[in-house]
Amino acid sequence: MATVSRGDFFRFAGLTAGAVVVSELGFDLAQATAIKRDLRIAGATESHSICPYCAVGCSLIAYTRKDASGKAQLLQIEGDPDSPVNEGRLCPKGATTMQLATSVRRVESPMYRAPGATEWQKMSWDDVLDKLAQRIKDTRDQTFVATDAKGNLVNRTEGMAFAGGAAFSSEEGYVATKVMRGLGLIYLEQQARV
Ligand code: SF4
Repeated sequence: MATVSRGDFFRFAGLTAGAVVVSELGFDLAQATAIKRDLRIAGATESHSICPYCAVGCSLIAYTRKDASGKAQLLQIEGDPDSPVNEGRLCPKGATTMQLATSVRRVESPMYRAPGATEWQKMSWDDVLDKLAQRIKDTRDQTFVATDAKGNLVNRTEGMAFAGGAAFSSEEGYVATKVMRGLGLIYLEQQARV
């Protein structure tokens, strides 16, 4: 262990660069951080994903490990250093991605509020998808325009619009556009463009 005089201590304490301080004291902060990280994620399963928040599409690594009951526990989410997009970095919003999975305030099932109601109620995915499909069909049937005022064949659905999510890949955006155009939608937008 390095010997530090009282004068050295105050000189070091006056420095703000922590890495310089600890290295002069003979303590390797980088190594300690690596050891701590290793202990936390040692033996964990590494899964690659993409930040869901914006169109930059930063790459993430999620570390999981199964507990005694066999259920996967999320240990850590961090930026992927091998990604050419973010090179391991995440902005403050992306750095909170783990809370999407671990927050006690996370909504875990579809919620429905009927017209005029003040309370939300839980719905199953099957029920909510059926309701969505029925509403889409009803709206399309009611607002479909076969020909415009000049008699041109247009076959469009004017009563619906579609907005793509920020985390859409190019392929997902392509498929979504094809499906919506197939329904006759003409009002399409994409959050990545905003
Ligand atoms: S980490 Fe930040 S910049 Fe990167 S995709 Fe997420 S929100 Fe966008």
